[in-house]
Amino acid sequence: MKRLLILGAGTAGTMIANRMVHALDMHDWQITIVDQDEIHYYQPGFLFIPFGTYARADVMRPKREYLPREVKVIISSIEQIDAEQKKVTLAKDNLVLPYDYLIIATGTRVVPDETPGLTEQEWRKSIFDFYTPDGAVALHNFLRTWEGGRLVLNVAEMPIKCPVAPLEFLFLADAYFQDRGIRDKVELTYATPLSAAFTKPIAAAQLGALLEEKNIKLVTDFNIAR
Ligand SMILES: Cc1cc2nc3c(=O)[nH]c(=O)nc-3n(C[C@H](O)[C@H](O)[C@H](O)COP(=O)(O)OP(=O)(O)OC[C@H]3O[C@@H](n4cnc5c(N)ncnc54)[C@H](O)[C@@H]3O)c2cc1C
Repeated sequence: MKRLLILGAGTAGTMIANRMVHALDMHDWQITIVDQDEIHYYQPGFLFIPFGTYARADVMRPKREYLPREVKVIISSIEQIDAEQKKVTLAKDNLVLPYDYLIIATGTRVVPDETPGLTEQEWRKSIFDFYTPDGAVALHNFLRTWEGGRLVLNVAEMPIKCPVAPLEFLFLADAYFQDRGIRDKVELTYATPLSAAFTKPIAAAQLGALLEEKNIKLVTDFNIAR
């Protein structure tokens, strides 16, 4: 029996597990997937939480619902990979999982404390992220009663997950403040380390024009220091 071990049951790990069950002869293979979290978060949905279109519960589903029956699911944090010995150690009961093939699909995580000043006293009071469920919900609670002012969306560093998400956020913000009748009280600014609104030239021109049309200021080559 050969052992395929998948680390991470997010979007990539879940897709791989589903595909491998069909691609491999399951009489010869045992597939195991490990994740620290029972819940799958639909990350593109985080964009809609700040504006009240989605609540947190709308972007959450049990991971197991999307994993094939044939796959063994273990909920635990992953502690260590020993590539030479072909084994992975989990936090849960110090369980050791030997493997023949390993797929690492642990994604990325948001690390706001790498920017000096970001996670100090104003974090989630006047400084927010929307790349985490907690951040998106905190931003929603803030925006609900905000009466206007200056809103700056800053991309701290490239690359980011879903390069278009910051622009989507700003267009949604423009619509949201219009609906609330306070668009004229809100100054929207997009501060990006890129030299244009987007990475690719044609999209950059189109999206740049759209920002201008919607009176969203674009500040390029902006590299945050603190
Ligand atoms: C706001 C936003 C909008 C987006 N919009 C789009 C879009 O429109 N279209 C699009 O294609 N993509 C979009 N994305 C990107 C998309 O969500 C990600 O690219 C995708 O989720 C990445 O999948 P992944 O499996 O690599 O990582 P993830 O889905 O993040 O999964 C990683 C998994 O690994 C687990 N893990 C990590 N470390 C450990 C550990 N040590 N122990 C145990 N488990 C661990 C985590 O719990 C997690 O379940 C968006 C993302 C965001 C944040």
